[in-house]
Amino acid sequence: MAEPEVVDVVVIGLGVGGEEVAGRLAEAGLSVVGVERNLVGGECPYWGCIPSKMMIRAANALAEARRVNELAGSAQVQPDWAPVAKRIREEATDSWDDKVAVDRFVGRGGRFVRGSARLDGPGRVRVGDQVFQARHGIVFGTGTRPSVPPIDGLADTPYWTNHQATEVAELPESLLVLGGGAIGLELAQVFARFGVQVTVVEAADRVLAFEEPESAEVAAAALRADGVDIRAGVKADRVTHDGSAFTLHAGDDAFTAEQLLVVTGRRAHLEELGLDTIGVDAAQRYLSVDGQMRVTDGVWAVGDVTGEGAFTHIAMYQAAIVIADVLDHARRAKGAPDASGTASMVGGAMGAASAVGSAGTVPLADYRALPRVTFTDPEIGSVGLVEHQARQRGLNVQIGFAPLTTSARGWIHKAGNEGFIKLVVDADKGVLVGATSVGSAGGEVLSALVVAVHGEVPVSRLRHMIYAYPTFHRAIEDALRNLS
Ligand SMILES: Cc1cc2nc3c(=O)[nH]c(=O)nc-3n(C[C@H](O)[C@H](O)[C@H](O)COP(=O)(O)OP(=O)(O)OC[C@H]3O[C@@H](n4cnc5c(N)ncnc54)[C@H](O)[C@@H]3O)c2cc1C
Repeated sequence: MAEPEVVDVVVIGLGVGGEEVAGRLAEAGLSVVGVERNLVGGECPYWGCIPSKMMIRAANALAEARRVNELAGSAQVQPDWAPVAKRIREEATDSWDDKVAVDRFVGRGGRFVRGSARLDGPGRVRVGDQVFQARHGIVFGTGTRPSVPPIDGLADTPYWTNHQATEVAELPESLLVLGGGAIGLELAQVFARFGVQVTVVEAADRVLAFEEPESAEVAAAALRADGVDIRAGVKADRVTHDGSAFTLHAGDDAFTAEQLLVVTGRRAHLEELGLDTIGVDAAQRYLSVDGQMRVTDGVWAVGDVTGEGAFTHIAMYQAAIVIADVLDHARRAKGAPDASGTASMVGGAMGAASAVGSAGTVPLADYRALPRVTFTDPEIGSVGLVEHQARQRGLNVQIGFAPLTTSARGWIHKAGNEGFIKLVVDADKGVLVGATSVGSAGGEVLSALVVAVHGEVPVSRLRHMIYAYPTFHRAIEDALRNLS
């Protein structure tokens, strides 16, 4: 067996979370090994946020051009997928090559190892024949993979996940989207706007099941206006593929299309990580962490694998906490007898620690004001609790609602003005505990509501704020006025 090589930190999985942690710790002067089995950067730049938002930008340009007919004369739109595919290939992903990202990590002082890593006992990580002993800690940033439901026949068909959907060079004529969550709706609307005949099949009785029901209604109406057939409350029980088309069976119903995209959620694969070698339960759905992102002593986790929300902004937020805590841990180890010279290295690291805050200055993770945006058109932005969650928690709830269509800006905007503001107030405390902002700039308007929830700004203060005229965000004032 290979002799373990002693390093300061091993980061397993270099998605957005892991890459940030590994790069910042390396810059701070620690010896960091970053292990990635696929592409450095993970889902977000190659198959997630960035390519999907490039697709959405292009699809929205088509939709906006089509609105010329209602507002400014006439415009003929001829969709072409080729520039979108080219942009994703050339500008976003370098043809799904991570050389730039690997060089960036190495340039920050990290040591890159390509391969699949697993724990091999306390503080020890194995990657093939290589074994590393981490002096200060191990960080898991291993993310999630698409979770594919156990529908009869599905596993044997050439279905798409988000990978094939973002890599596609030529669009199919028709597409079945299994799953009406954020990713399913975003991609369904994009493809429909490029002329694909799209059907969304969702088992729950509405799309966007975790958002407000009003959000689901607006999103479904917008997609239907783009020609998407939305079937909610439909439980697929069998899938067949005859070589040229997929058929999705649900009781007596059957839906057929050239391609099938499965976007029914994501799953962490803890069983691969050797967690049993340190006494951590690998049967959990996600790697549970405390407020400093610690799994157990000397082991941290960051990003989707923690189950705190599958968003890049969560991974980055958690990364700052992990970085500060690992550096603090290393500083505390400074006094301990260590022949390797760690103490002087860590002393140098503390300059960088203060750049991100140390454990003393970085607050524990707090998800009360977690923002979420579904980038359909209109965008569905939300923060904190939705109404039914607030009621389930027994809060004394007040709701404020204001449609955008009848606001001054909505009326001016006309074509594409669908949306609303919904506020969820804890009446006893007099603060917002949640809010939804739906509209063409719903994700941007959301920021004001995030500040209000995060800062627990009293509703009485929000009521006496000056809201610029005529903006979409002025509807927040209307919703405050309408608080029940
Ligand atoms: C289509 C789509 C659109 C999205 N859009 C948005 C958006 O608009 N905004 C947003 O905030 N979020 C979005 N997300 C979510 C976002 O992509 C994720 O939250 C983010 O990528 C999570 O980062 P991560 O570092 O936790 O994990 P990942 O990005 O999943 O990276 C984990 C990495 O770990 C590697 N790995 C796993 N196990 C091992 C191992 N044992 N050894 C070595 N390497 C390993 C994997 O290969 C992977 O590269 C989207 C996701 C999808 C699929």
